[in-house]
Amino acid sequence: MDDCIFCKIIKKEISGEFLHEDEHSIVIKDLYPKAKTHLLILPKKHIPSVIELEEGDEKIAGHMIKVAKDLAEKLGLKGYKLQINVGKDGGQEVFHLHLHLLSTFA
Ligand code: AMP
Ligand code: ZN
Repeated sequence: MDDCIFCKIIKKEISGEFLHEDEHSIVIKDLYPKAKTHLLILPKKHIPSVIELEEGDEKIAGHMIKVAKDLAEKLGLKGYKLQINVGKDGGQEVFHLHLHLLSTFA
């Protein structure tokens, strides 16, 4: 999507701190961290939110959790939270699906 900030980061049109990239996803640092470690796992496919997940997107959604788990392991985080805000009333501000990885550990 042309006007999506996360699509622009994925396409490297604007800068973002990449911690991981694979065929289906990237991981960036949240620009305004709400925890010691605050990462965002983004699918490369532009899906606005959980509400718009389509048949066949299960793989992408599962992959995001697996990427978070592997990265948390790699970073040695002892514990963490995974969060998805869904819709404006669910606290979502950026309408490109993303999984927050939050940890009090760094
Ligand atoms: P949400 O409220 O779930 O939509 O979360 C959006 C998150 O994106 C917030 O935690 C913001 O701090 C973060 N954010 C907004 N713009 C950027 C950006 N350019 N790079 C990295 N994170 C961003
Ligand atoms: Zn997008």
